[in-house]
Amino acid sequence: MSAKDAPPPLPEPLGVPVADSHTHLDMQPGTVEEALARAAAVGVDTVVQVGCDLKGSRWAAETAAAHAAVHAAVALHPNEAPRIVHGDEDGWSRQGAREAGGDAALDDALAEIDLLAALPQVRAVGETGLDYFRTGPEGMAAQERSLRAHIEIAKRHGKALVIHDREAHADVLRVLAEEGAPERTVFHCYSGDAEMARACADAGYFMSFAGNVTFKNAQPLRDALAVAPLELVLVETDAPFLTPAPYRGRPNAPYLIPITVRAMAQVRGVDEETMASAIAVNTARAFDY
Ligand SMILES: [Zn+2]
Ligand SMILES: [Zn+2]
Repeated sequence: MSAKDAPPPLPEPLGVPVADSHTHLDMQPGTVEEALARAAAVGVDTVVQVGCDLKGSRWAAETAAAHAAVHAAVALHPNEAPRIVHGDEDGWSRQGAREAGGDAALDDALAEIDLLAALPQVRAVGETGLDYFRTGPEGMAAQERSLRAHIEIAKRHGKALVIHDREAHADVLRVLAEEGAPERTVFHCYSGDAEMARACADAGYFMSFAGNVTFKNAQPLRDALAVAPLELVLVETDAPFLTPAPYRGRPNAPYLIPITVRAMAQVRGVDEETMASAIAVNTARAFDY
C-alpha cells in the first residue's frame, strides 16, 4: 500500500462526542468492531449505517441490532431502483425483466424494505431520492416511483427519511412537497447552494454535510452551511467516499468526522464544542434515538 492509499491517521479527539449520520461500514475494510473502536477513540460515539439495496439493508438492520452505537437506515438507493425495474440485477436481460414485470420486482423489494423499516433499531428509511448524475433519463420514472414509496413507508412507520439528491434538487423538493415529507427528513451529503439551504430550512429539513465541504472548490457548499440554521445541521462521512481534505482520495471512515466538524465550525465562526454539541443534539433528534 502506497502512502497515498493508506488510511489517514487518527485526528485529535473531539471534546464533545458526535454521530456520523451516514456511513457504509459494509463497503469499508476491517470489522465493524474495529471501525467503531477507532471512531469512539476520537469522539464519534454513534453511526448511522445506511443500506443501499436489500442485502445491504438487511445487513444494516442486523448490525444495528448487534451494536448499541449503530442505528440502521434501510432503502433501495435511487441508482438501485431502476436496476431492479430494468432487470440489470442477477444477469437478467432487460427483455426478461419486462416479461417478468419490472414494476412488480420493485414492489417486491419495497415490501421487504417495509418489513425492515418496522424494526426498532431501524431509525430511518433511506437512502432514497433522485440521482440524475449516475442514472440517465430512462431510469427517472423508476427512481421517482421508488422515492414516493419510500416516503410513504417512512411516514407510516414514523421513521426519518434520508434523501440522496444528486443534481436533482428541484425535483426532490417537488416530490417531497407533493407527497408531504415525513416529520424528520435529512438531506444526506447536502449538495445544494445557499438558496436551497433556505428552502430546506423553511421546510424544516436537516442538512447533513460530508467531507466535501472541506474541498477547495466547494465554496457554494460552505455558503450553504453558513446560512443553514444551526439546529438543522448534521455531519457525516458517507465513507468510504468523500474523504475530507487534506486526505482527499484516501479511504474514508467514521473516525475522520472530527476533521469535517472542525472545518464546519470554522465556516460558522463558532468554536468546535459549540458545533459538536449542536450536531450531537440534532442527530439524536433527526433519528429519534
Ligand atoms: Zn448518497
Ligand atoms: Zn450513502
